[in-house]
Amino acid sequence: MKNIAILGSTGSIGTQALEVIEANPALFQVSVLTAQSNVDLLIAQALKFSPKIVVIGDESKYQILKAALKITSIEVKAGIEALVEVVVLPELETVLTALVGFAGLKPTIAAIKAGKHIALANKETLVVAGELITALAKQYNVNILPVDSEHSAIFQCLTGEINPIEKIYLTASGGPFRGKNIEFLSEVTKQQALRHPNWVMGAKITIDSASLMNKGLEVIEAKWLFNLDVKQIDVIVHPQSIIHSIVQFEDGSMKAQMGLPDMKLPIQYALAYPNRIKNDLKRFNFLDYPSLTFEQADMKTFRNLALAFVALEKAGNMPCIVNAANEVVVAEFLNERIGFLQMSEVIETCMAKLDFMKTPSFEDYFETDKQTRIFAKQLVTNI
Ligand code: NAD
Ligand code: MG
Repeated sequence: MKNIAILGSTGSIGTQALEVIEANPALFQVSVLTAQSNVDLLIAQALKFSPKIVVIGDESKYQILKAALKITSIEVKAGIEALVEVVVLPELETVLTALVGFAGLKPTIAAIKAGKHIALANKETLVVAGELITALAKQYNVNILPVDSEHSAIFQCLTGEINPIEKIYLTASGGPFRGKNIEFLSEVTKQQALRHPNWVMGAKITIDSASLMNKGLEVIEAKWLFNLDVKQIDVIVHPQSIIHSIVQFEDGSMKAQMGLPDMKLPIQYALAYPNRIKNDLKRFNFLDYPSLTFEQADMKTFRNLALAFVALEKAGNMPCIVNAANEVVVAEFLNERIGFLQMSEVIETCMAKLDFMKTPSFEDYFETDKQTRIFAKQLVTNI
């Protein structure tokens, strides 16, 4: 029986993880659930799964949560600092980081230092501080098990392999605006951007998928997870999202992992690793997909992907700058304060103007994140 903490249990990944856990009561037990503001769903989840502790990030909702769980023995905490406290519970084996954004960094570090395996959905943590996080995981002998479907695909292809990777292909659906030009993108609305063709996900990652920033973040995530050089990572657009990613070895042989797009599969692979567990998820039927197609990613039109490659090449705190600027612009796009293309403009200006550090410390990442957010918000105000 594995004891699991889910950070961000009310989100898209969090709720699907709970479905996996519910389907496998003999394998998994939930010890910690956390959410930022959806207190009603968190209460329902707590009553159903009886964790030891629940955390609500938004402190103004503490009393509601406390009152609703009064009849239980569940401990209730509030505030962002509580995330760092709950990931170190002795009985925990795995922490699923299903929260969104830079907020995942601190609790992930605390969990690794407490010797917990990380089922990592929160890609932003690896984007910001991949070098330090992977070094820390090595030092504390914990696994970082990817939940992101592309990285889970690579990870599955590498299982049992002892040979070096020549390169990897990260597949991309292309998002809702695949094939569109700059004129089209200058007019798109938040509603259009939120309509992803193949996946239902949280708002932030859905916008990132529309702008191809998600693929850019995934390139950086892959670099750190699989210890690759930027030249070993390629992106290929594959609109059907059946091939989840591909590894090419030094003899030219390629291994791909495929299946219908369903995040429950990579989630359960990360939670049950190294085992596979039986499930009744819908199986792939070749005749439903007579052709799988591939095309080049359009980095000229979708500049975020190109910017992410530049950030990875520059390294240091540059990916942290890109991530922070991106979190700001996505929120502002969702608030309808800026247009779709202005997101890339703000990110690019942040990359040019903020202080570059070649070898940042943990503290430097927090400072970079803070300064970038301030600057990006100013840029947005001036638009
Ligand atoms: P979501 O918006 O649906 O859910 C986010 C969860 O995190 C919620 O429970 C929310 O309460 C919590 N949260 C939000 N802000 C927080 C904060 N500042 N502090 C603490 N908790 C906070 O997001 P999601 O789509 O489930 O994505 C979660 C993570 O997984 C992201 O990093 C995303 O990139 C990654 N991911 C998601 C998918 C997917 O299919 N949804 C696929 C691959 C990777
Ligand atoms: Mg992905």
